[in-house]
Amino acid sequence: MEEKRLPEESLDPADWDQFATLAHKALDQAITFVRTARERPVWQEVPDDVREALRSPVPLKGEALDHVYREFEELILPYPTGNTHPRFFGWVHGTGMATGIVAELLAAAMNANCGGRDHGAIYVEKVVLDWCKSLFDFPAEASGLIVSGTAMANLIAATVARNATDLTGIRADGLASRHTRMTAYASTEIHECVVKSMEILGLGRDSLRRIPVDANFQMDLEALGQAIAKDRTDNYKPFLVVGTAGTVNTGAIDDLDALASLCAKEQLWFHIDGAFGALAILDAELRSRLKGIERADSLAFDFHKWMHIPYDAGCVLVRRGDLHRAAFSTRPDYLRRQARGLGGGGNWPTEYGPELSRSFRALKIWFALKVHGIEKFGRLIAQNCAQARYLADAVDGTANLERLAPVSLNIVCFRYKPGNVGLSSALDTLNEAIVADLQETGIAAPSTTRIHNQLAIRVNITNHRTRREDLDLLLRAVLAAGARQLVK
Ligand SMILES: *Cc1c(COP(=O)(O)O)cnc(C)c1O
Repeated sequence: MEEKRLPEESLDPADWDQFATLAHKALDQAITFVRTARERPVWQEVPDDVREALRSPVPLKGEALDHVYREFEELILPYPTGNTHPRFFGWVHGTGMATGIVAELLAAAMNANCGGRDHGAIYVEKVVLDWCKSLFDFPAEASGLIVSGTAMANLIAATVARNATDLTGIRADGLASRHTRMTAYASTEIHECVVKSMEILGLGRDSLRRIPVDANFQMDLEALGQAIAKDRTDNYKPFLVVGTAGTVNTGAIDDLDALASLCAKEQLWFHIDGAFGALAILDAELRSRLKGIERADSLAFDFHKWMHIPYDAGCVLVRRGDLHRAAFSTRPDYLRRQARGLGGGGNWPTEYGPELSRSFRALKIWFALKVHGIEKFGRLIAQNCAQARYLADAVDGTANLERLAPVSLNIVCFRYKPGNVGLSSALDTLNEAIVADLQETGIAAPSTTRIHNQLAIRVNITNHRTRREDLDLLLRAVLAAGARQLVK
């Protein structure tokens, strides 16, 4: 019996011209959104009715693109994180950039799968990685991968470091074949994602020894040496030291050169989490503070933070490309390398990380670096550091404000401390309320952290739109919110 032949369909628009009109409107709106960032509140809470409206059953039948687009305009676009705004100072978020709109649009059109094979996108990623190797003075035989962010980059680097201790054994047998427990070292200021990496790798979070920091929040090297020696005596196997270039709390930079020497002497893998701080090498003056970064066995950093590439984009570099590949490469039959054709192209990106299919992240980085040039990024980083010093001076010169940590790069931690509130827990509550007030009124978005067990208003400036007037406004708003809280 012959099967009834249904009309064949595709996902292409029925009317391309109509689609083009709407797409152009979307592009215009995207540009306006970025262009008018300053005119909006930094953040506003998603109202209950909007949240409710977003919850909907699975759409079984399609509806017109312009209907869906209108829904986006009403329910989604007005509620961004806020990091495109000049007074977004929370966590460590990049600002994004207009160039990103073009690059993301074109990447979506090409729809490249960057797991491997031989096509243009692969060569774009290669050249971006070559630029990174050259910026950080890594050798030509180093390898790299563009990833979702530093959390993934740290995990990949830790995997390479772990596997490099016993290449075949760990990949085949897991940790069951090991009788000695492997230990790693980082300061108490380490980002939590490194701890998570230890858990994911099956090494356990307690295998990451947390080394105390000094008054500048840098890892105490003597304590590190002692911890390694003690673990060796106790029959552990130390394998990895993670230094930080730009800690998340205060922006502190560990003594990378000294850590590199210590790791060379102790024969340990030296990884650097440089999520945002690593890019300070782009400024001639800040560069000296990162001396030793070129000696790392591996380095993780983000493009989406201090380089403002639209989310997401991070990078891992590994000095020994052979060890990097040995940690991840498998070539099953369906991915066999071919001498010719689309299946060629040498080593594939998928051989350097856990993911097979990967988006064309490299394109937005390539566009941004070519359009703006490295020197401009260096100037913008220096500009943010100068703004942080300006803010710190203003905090120091203002009654009722107290700075809680030295300013190393671009992060200022302080609190509102009126003379009549002495109780530490009351100050914590007060400052927490101030930050929530600033966020909810949409004036500014700093975040909070704890410094020496005191709640701090944390202002991180990785923002190319921030001007000094924004920092003046922030301090006025903190004082006003503080005063308002006190009369409540
Ligand atoms: C942001 C950050 C991370 C995590 O990076 P993601 O890009 O968010 O994955 C790790 N370490 C430090 C120091 C960071 O600031």
